[in-house]
Amino acid sequence: EIFSGPLPRLFRFSATVVYGKREVVIGGGAPVVVQSMTNTDTTDVIGTAIQIKELARAGSEMVRLTVNTPEAAKAVPEIREQLDKMGIDVPLVGDFHYNGHLLLNDYPDCAQALSKYRINPGNVGQGVKKDLQFAKMIEVACRYDKTIRIGVNWGSLDQSLLARIMDENARRDQPWTAQGVMYEALITSAIESAAKAEEIGLASNRIILSCKVSAVQDLIAVYSELARRCRYPLHLGLTEAGMGSKGIVASTAALAVLMQQGIGDTIRISLTPEPGGDRCKEVYVAQEILQTMGLRKFSPMVIACPGCGRTTSTVFQELADSIQTFLRDQMPVWKTKYPGVESMNVAVMGCIVNGPGESKHANIGISLPGTGESPAAPVFVDGVKVKTLRGENIATEFQAIVQEYVVK
Ligand code: SF4
Repeated sequence: EIFSGPLPRLFRFSATVVYGKREVVIGGGAPVVVQSMTNTDTTDVIGTAIQIKELARAGSEMVRLTVNTPEAAKAVPEIREQLDKMGIDVPLVGDFHYNGHLLLNDYPDCAQALSKYRINPGNVGQGVKKDLQFAKMIEVACRYDKTIRIGVNWGSLDQSLLARIMDENARRDQPWTAQGVMYEALITSAIESAAKAEEIGLASNRIILSCKVSAVQDLIAVYSELARRCRYPLHLGLTEAGMGSKGIVASTAALAVLMQQGIGDTIRISLTPEPGGDRCKEVYVAQEILQTMGLRKFSPMVIACPGCGRTTSTVFQELADSIQTFLRDQMPVWKTKYPGVESMNVAVMGCIVNGPGESKHANIGISLPGTGESPAAPVFVDGVKVKTLRGENIATEFQAIVQEYVVK
């Protein structure tokens, strides 16, 4: 063995998640996959299909949805059908707890329409039923050749396994701390469940693992050890990361440390949405983490200065925001028509102090005049000043210049 520490991405097994001709590869050194989850009622077929379409258009490469009742299971193939009509081929992942064995068995159209099943070993049943019910789900995955994620979560840890590990710990000369016992239980739950799934007949390239916790240091410790002990591809995410900037910062802090070590083959950013907030934000944050770390490129990077006392009007912030939104909106079409467009840099700068210099370094840059200066905004293309924009329509005219640059 070359590595004694956590095995990085390149050395992990790969798993594929398939829908039609769309094949998403997770692990084996493949680019880190971005995924997300709906928050609609799955029985609302149209509402759920629309949200999945929005998440997929934003760049989610797989979308998970809750399958919690017979009605939700019946809705899944209808949602798939609606997505097919919209031309959305994103693979769907069913999230099962408590009754997954029944739903997957009783609703074969649901089992077939899903590309992947998330199974939480802490929520598959108690006592002797647990193994039987877990086996039933794995048998369905084998029957339809589906990939599974064994998704352990410390909020729903398998209590009998935790009791066993506590007993083992009590017999140690130097027992682990309660935190160490918890880490061990999470990791053991994932690895033992994967071994059971393989014994039942599921191929190793159909298994992905996760062990989610909600605190940054716990996540880093658990995944570092999980990555050392197995070669299955890993789904990474800080569960219940929280709202607003706290959720983004906590997720970024945890995921960046792990991904820098090569740990994490697919990620989800679990943000609590603000009321009426955009669900796609979790996709954008995931993409921005990966892009700023230099691991993937999704859309042109907007370089914007923070603004200061020289920019007391909101023109500069509005322009930066509008160009960011414009670029994201164009990407679903641009990425297929203009390969490489995601490597482009666009600078939006607030005044002449750093504006012209930063704008010249970008593919396209605009330097606003700041407060009290002449209302003229020079535009630079590939380092050369091409024109100066003035007046009310600077944002629209700048978008047109960006569009023209991309098309050429
Ligand atoms: Fe302030 Fe100008 Fe620097 Fe932007 S470029 S932060 S507006 S001094």
